[in-house]
Amino acid sequence: MIGTVTGDIPPEDLGFCQCHEHLWIAGYSGTVNPDLRIDDPEKSRAELDLFRRAGGSALVDAQPLGCGRNASVLKELSEQSAVKIIASTGFHKMIYYPEDHWVRTAGADTLTRLFLEELSEGMYADGDDAFPAVQTRCRAGLIKAALDAGTFSPLYEKCFSAAAEAAKASGVPLMVHIEKDSDPLTLADFLRAQGLAPERLIFCHLDRAVADTAVHRELCRRGIYLEYDTIGRPKYHDDERETAIVTEMLEAGYGKQILMSLDTTRARLSSYGGGPGLDHILVRFIPLLRRRGIPEAQIQAFFRENPARALGRKGN
Ligand SMILES: [Zn+2]
Repeated sequence: MIGTVTGDIPPEDLGFCQCHEHLWIAGYSGTVNPDLRIDDPEKSRAELDLFRRAGGSALVDAQPLGCGRNASVLKELSEQSAVKIIASTGFHKMIYYPEDHWVRTAGADTLTRLFLEELSEGMYADGDDAFPAVQTRCRAGLIKAALDAGTFSPLYEKCFSAAAEAAKASGVPLMVHIEKDSDPLTLADFLRAQGLAPERLIFCHLDRAVADTAVHRELCRRGIYLEYDTIGRPKYHDDERETAIVTEMLEAGYGKQILMSLDTTRARLSSYGGGPGLDHILVRFIPLLRRRGIPEAQIQAFFRENPARALGRKGN
């Protein structure tokens, strides 16, 4: 089953899914970078309508616990738009938490317990800085984590250990933000040593974070899913370059392990006055993939079969 904010669904009911988006980011995270702040329910709802009208059915909201997520808003948005939303527990880059935030000071066991409670009982209402206290009845469906640039610090090691424990105990996937100048292969080794199966890992942003596609292939060879989302994002590269990366991975035989999304920010959502909008993949990018000769069955796999397989809980 796949855990959405309105309840479990069988994987075959998922439909067209973008695996890493943002529909709501408020609080401290929204002040770190104003381009990230997504905090108007009407506008987020309008963006989902756009996505739905273009043929979208489901998406992952990748904002984890304690950094501006709002479980109740996500549930309302899903109910109003009829778009299925898979919400995240877990932790983000430390830049999104104030210096004295509980994520930094809580023990690994405490974090594991919180993540598991969010997956099995309900996400905590976001008080941001305050230790989670008020629980909603709306459950998270995956664990999101973030690998930062530089060396793997004891603080991140604690957080990743907690996330790995919760992923093993719950059977949900662990989705990881991969920062530029980080070391995803060392993280993959670390998580393997924690006993987490590579098939339960989704590494994000490699298409903009890691230029050497040999690293992409090595991660796939180990069984890890890659989520590409540098689409409609010319500040990094254009969609032709994105298509070339995708084509290279298909030629290497990894078409079953690629997921795609937009990783939207406020500046990239039409309803907030930005662009290209949450419908960009459906309206413009998929036609480009077709023009570049990617088979229709493979395009459907990127957005339907692969997400259904990657997001499903294992063992139930
Ligand atoms: Zn993101």
